[in-house]
Amino acid sequence: MKTKIAVAKGDGIGPEIMDAVLGIFKANDVPLDYEFVEMGKSYFDAGHSTGMTALAKETIENLGILFKGPMETPKGKGVKSINVTARKVWNTYANQRDFRTLNGVDTVFSRAGIQINLTIVRENIEDTYGGIEHMLTNDVAVGRRLISRTGSAQVIKYAFEMAKRKGNTKIACGHKANIMKLTDGIFLDTFYEIAKDYPHIYATDIIVDDLCMKLVSKPETFEVVVLPNLQGDIVSDLCAGLVGGLGFAPSANIGDFISIFEAVHGTAPDIAGRNIANPTALLLSGVAMLRFMGLTQNAATIENALLYTLEQGVHTGDFGDKTIPASNTTQFAEAIIANLGQTPVKGVATSKANFVKSTLVAEKPTQNIIRETEPGISEEIMGADIFVETMLQPKALAELAQSKLDEKFKLVMVSNRGTQTWPTGSVFTELTNQSRLRCEKNDGQELSAKDIFDLASRVSEVINVCSIEFLKKFGGKLGYSLAQGQ
Ligand code: NAD
Repeated sequence: MKTKIAVAKGDGIGPEIMDAVLGIFKANDVPLDYEFVEMGKSYFDAGHSTGMTALAKETIENLGILFKGPMETPKGKGVKSINVTARKVWNTYANQRDFRTLNGVDTVFSRAGIQINLTIVRENIEDTYGGIEHMLTNDVAVGRRLISRTGSAQVIKYAFEMAKRKGNTKIACGHKANIMKLTDGIFLDTFYEIAKDYPHIYATDIIVDDLCMKLVSKPETFEVVVLPNLQGDIVSDLCAGLVGGLGFAPSANIGDFISIFEAVHGTAPDIAGRNIANPTALLLSGVAMLRFMGLTQNAATIENALLYTLEQGVHTGDFGDKTIPASNTTQFAEAIIANLGQTPVKGVATSKANFVKSTLVAEKPTQNIIRETEPGISEEIMGADIFVETMLQPKALAELAQSKLDEKFKLVMVSNRGTQTWPTGSVFTELTNQSRLRCEKNDGQELSAKDIFDLASRVSEVINVCSIEFLKKFGGKLGYSLAQGQ
């Protein structure tokens, strides 16, 4: 029985490397059928604002697996990256990238005899990738970084399950919760909450800058690292560098219903159409897909053939021993095909299914799933941060704002770029034309949303208001950060 999956060849080098990979799959009798879908730059150009046809969307949603080549996002047309959109729209919440030392791929670590074998699991939906950005004034932009308990739980649970399945003994949570106490705080708290269900996996956390330093100095000490989206993005490219670059970096975007397998690199327009691209990253992504689908024997045979081929010194022009002539894409794929059945001397591939396979079994939703952790938790409005555009000095700004407060509110702080400027501050703090007025309720007062809007409306009579943010407590816990110096 063959399983059907959706395949999008992509742009630039996409068709060349996809043909090479599918040729290897065919030679190994991989039991898959392919439905080729229309997705990529030419579909943007043809007027499809999402970069894919309605039929392509329907096919992918029906089949549940998309194997894709890199795609180009047209610049300057106001369209969002199809790669990011696909991951978000279909809720592929976990991005898994496996990095291991590959024979024949020369790196500082391979030369030192240090074996790397680590997995980065990156949250794939939230964080700054919401792309929610606004100009508060002509000089000051703000980006909203949304991190949810439910989204964090999905990816962290996935990371633990994957680690358990792979037989990993330890997992680290990378974060910056020392600075972003609420957003990264949620991610970190959720990590330790879920860790309780996996007593046999040693769970630890590490601040992301320290993580980067340790990854480049002692990469062999890491097994699995789970991170929020942006930090995970940066750290996973760092790890690609450890094992030989983006040409060797596979990527799996895992969701409950739809999963996407692709290489990390882009369309390489500089070498497109010349049949010289390296198909290894896409092949490794394909191998990951086979493991995910339970085709573990095919995955192991193909990966072993690739490792054996690399061991023999066969290489495309972007890597390898320069004294051996480079193969083109077709020749490289043919060498792998000729080596099917061979086993590398070092680092034999695993035939274990090291992915948590859920896409093929989950019942499809008929409406949007809405998740909430604690319905009915108590909420209390404590006040508001009112963001204003002003060139007034802090003291004058505070006095003007205070003239518009009623008995319900007190002004507790003025800040600029997150640094307190009133009631205490320093004349050495340089300011922009955008400040924040923190107004909290007076003792004994109860606030409604209307009180906040009324306050902002009164303040706007004398100062240019550009945004409002509520200050709340949830379950009695403060739901906002303090300014530096407050
Ligand atoms: P890129 O990854 O395409 O290229 C960077 C460099 O790496 C180039 O010199 C290229 O020749 C080389 N390279 C990349 N893949 C290679 C391979 N398989 N074999 C040999 N050399 C390879 O990055 P870029 O130039 O920043 O982006 C080009 C386009 O790709 C952009 O339109 C971008 O939006 C898109 N992109 C798509 C994806 C994706 O589909 N997931 C990811 C990244 C970039």
